[in-house]
Amino acid sequence: MKWLKKNKIKIITIGLILVIVVSLGLVIFLTLPKIELNGEDNVVINVDSKYKELGATAFYLGEDVSDSVKIEGNVDVHKLGTYKLTYVLNKGLAKKKVSRTVVVKDIEAPVITLEGEEEVNVCPNTKFKELGFKALDNVDGDLTDKVETEEKEDAIIYKVKDKEGNESKIERKIVYKDIENPKIELSGGADYTTYLGGKYIEPGYNVTDNCSQELKAKVKVTNNVNMNQAGTYTVTYEVSDEAGNTASIKRTVRVVSRPKGGTIYLTFDDGPQEGTTNKILDILKEEGVKATFFVTSNGPDYLIKREADEGHTVALHTATHNYAKVYSSVDNYFNDLKIVHDRVQRITGQDARIIRFPGGSSNTISRNYSRGIMSTLTKEVINRGYRYHDWNVDSNDAGGANYSSAVYNNVIRGLSSSSTNMVLMHDIKPQTRDALRDIIRYAKNNGFTFAPITMSTPMVRHGVNN
Ligand code: ZN
Repeated sequence: MKWLKKNKIKIITIGLILVIVVSLGLVIFLTLPKIELNGEDNVVINVDSKYKELGATAFYLGEDVSDSVKIEGNVDVHKLGTYKLTYVLNKGLAKKKVSRTVVVKDIEAPVITLEGEEEVNVCPNTKFKELGFKALDNVDGDLTDKVETEEKEDAIIYKVKDKEGNESKIERKIVYKDIENPKIELSGGADYTTYLGGKYIEPGYNVTDNCSQELKAKVKVTNNVNMNQAGTYTVTYEVSDEAGNTASIKRTVRVVSRPKGGTIYLTFDDGPQEGTTNKILDILKEEGVKATFFVTSNGPDYLIKREADEGHTVALHTATHNYAKVYSSVDNYFNDLKIVHDRVQRITGQDARIIRFPGGSSNTISRNYSRGIMSTLTKEVINRGYRYHDWNVDSNDAGGANYSSAVYNNVIRGLSSSSTNMVLMHDIKPQTRDALRDIIRYAKNNGFTFAPITMSTPMVRHGVNN
């Protein structure tokens, strides 16, 4: 019993000690401060971005003491690097710390910007011409030089990497297709006025296109212009390029009558001649126009007879038309003139008194044969009862006008509605024969009248040069 009693006391004592130790431990444990990070232990942020501090949560004796946490260290967001932040709590018996790592890194890829559209149409069978680009990086700055381009079938790929290895890649779509319409431009304006009569002369046009060349020849011109009737007409120009893009434009053509007036003396030199003079006589007859023929020794007699019989004036141009001969002396001139004069008289019975000097009274070629002879002859022919005529409208059919269109244009341009038009032509020229009907039609439509030269027609004379 005694032993029992003794041991009981021992057990109680040990138990008491245990209780005290455990309680003390509990007290110490409960009074230790506690601290814990908000958010991740390791944070990675982009350079130049904002670092948002999340802080830490701390408890002491069951109370929130987060406000007492002190943060040591700092983060420079503008500088690449690894930063350590320490969160310190100083409470009660101990000091407690936790820490966080913040890495400031370049995690942003460069930005490529394209000049021009992101989708480009390029003419088929041609190479795309770069429109330009730029690459800017948040850390490395201008990286345009480092951009690599890769040409694919339907796109251009642009790639660039910054020092950190962040890559950027964009593409420009390339469509090899012509979608642009050609352009037609009108010379002479969209409103065009022309005079009644003659042929409609196209004032001209031009075509441009982004892809196709030489489209001008492909323009289809449609017009309903009636030059023989005053009015407003439309000329349509249409074209399509190789890809089928089309353009169409219209021109308004006003055909108006020219102020009326003016007499035209059609004169034909150097004939007659088989093949041209007879056709000219046919046209004059059909058109009811009387003209004047300055004949020579050329051609068959019957054409001179026809000229006279059909109401034209048969006039004299010299027999030989040989400058060296007719301008060598006054006598030689009149002797030659007499030959053609007598020919006409024999054929027609007429005493022809209207003449034209070979080369005109203003010619200078006669200087080669006799100085001053034109001054003498121009007076002497008048003294001997002749009247001579030069011209004031030159068809230039003996010069450069080798085509009927040129003869036509020269005459039409030379006509004046306010005066006498003495038109120089040659009935030995096929181009004159071919232009004659159009000239007559134009003149008629514009109020001109025709007349043959008579002895009372005022002389049209040039200045004398020799
Ligand atoms: Zn002549």
